[in-house]
Amino acid sequence: MSDCIFCMIANGDIPARIVLDEDGILAFDDIAPQGPVHTLIIPKHHYAHMGDDVPAEVMEALFSAAPRIAQMKGVAESGYRVIVNNGRDAAQTVGHLHVHVIGGKPMAHGMVRFESAE
Ligand code: AMP
Repeated sequence: MSDCIFCMIANGDIPARIVLDEDGILAFDDIAPQGPVHTLIIPKHHYAHMGDDVPAEVMEALFSAAPRIAQMKGVAESGYRVIVNNGRDAAQTVGHLHVHVIGGKPMAHGMVRFESAE
């Protein structure tokens, strides 16, 4: 997709701090990190979200990279969170499937915060 920022990173058209470059997937540090470690794993092919007919082997490649990235980043022992935001209600802001790997300091318990109590 020509106007997709993560496709541009995957194609090398815009720079990123690459953490892992493997067959079919790429991992790079988030530009606005939510913690000391915040890396994104993307498929090089464009899929909008997890429901976009993503082949099982692509899912496997994305998720099997997460613990290896945690190891590389030194948070495998201390712990890390793996998050995928899908669509509007999940506040997905980049419409190219990506897996967040976040860690490096203790997080609050729980993982969901809604905008309002209703
Ligand atoms: P999400 O809200 O799940 O769609 O997350 C999108 C993530 O992409 C956010 O954490 C952004 O900080 C990150 N992001 C946006 N543009 C870039 C970029 N050019 N390089 C690295 N990360 C980016």
